[in-house]
Amino acid sequence: MPKVPSSELLIGAHTSAQGGAQNAIWMGQEIGANTVQFFTSNQKRWSGKEITQEQAELFQEAVRVTGLCQLMSHDSYLINLGSSNPSVLHKSQKAFEKELIRCQKLGISFLNFHPGAAVGATEEQCLNNIVDSLEQFEELISHGATRLLLETTAGQGTTVGYCFEHLAYLIEKLYRKIPVGICIDTCHIFAAGYDIRTEAGWEKTLKDFERIVGMKHLYAFHLNDSLKPLGSLRDRHAPLGKGEIGMECFKVLMKNPKTRRLPKYLETPDGPPLWKKEIAMLREFADL
Ligand SMILES: [Zn+2]
Ligand SMILES: [Zn+2]
Repeated sequence: MPKVPSSELLIGAHTSAQGGAQNAIWMGQEIGANTVQFFTSNQKRWSGKEITQEQAELFQEAVRVTGLCQLMSHDSYLINLGSSNPSVLHKSQKAFEKELIRCQKLGISFLNFHPGAAVGATEEQCLNNIVDSLEQFEELISHGATRLLLETTAGQGTTVGYCFEHLAYLIEKLYRKIPVGICIDTCHIFAAGYDIRTEAGWEKTLKDFERIVGMKHLYAFHLNDSLKPLGSLRDRHAPLGKGEIGMECFKVLMKNPKTRRLPKYLETPDGPPLWKKEIAMLREFADL
């Protein structure tokens, strides 16, 4: 297979959609990204607004002009599709449905979300609630091109999705019915105990992922270093190379034929000037 030039590898960041989703796209272009992730509505509120025809057109225009692709939405942090509290579960499913509709209106490739949290219930119950929640969208999801991506979590609190076994359980139950996949967040899996600091560490981690989940289900990466150590179960992002993971991890990701071509989204803390540097650096790693 011919090597894809580094300029074509999809690398972006979580940009701000303040003032309209199109602004996340324009910001992407400014920082040298060819893909972005953003929030389609306020991530800390339940009541997300609908996308109007005019807003969708402004967005499509920005996408056409910039050529950005494989766009990703991150759903609201309030949503818990695995909740054992009926009212929270219902609210979550409604909010997720609205989020999915916004993604479809904007033509977004991936809707990324944290699978859920097992507050007051077992992890197994939580995982089964997530399956039941997502199955409800089987009909709706067939009307658009958006794929749902389960994000690996750090295992903070009662969250599920911190081990490949949880993800495999969800994927196995869902992938024949709805388009689903996995997004690996480097900070989260490291905090959850997967040592990805070296090439050998990545080899082992990807081998485990292949055996337990299957590489064909892996669609994207969130790139973050981690302020907290291996296995800390704490979700605190750091700039690449400035945390406990270190730069080698990101060099390997950009070189390894299994991971090089998958889209990558920075969620590092310092904003656009840092992202611009990190994107350029990641492209250099791919050329080494
Ligand atoms: Zn996330
Ligand atoms: Zn993430």
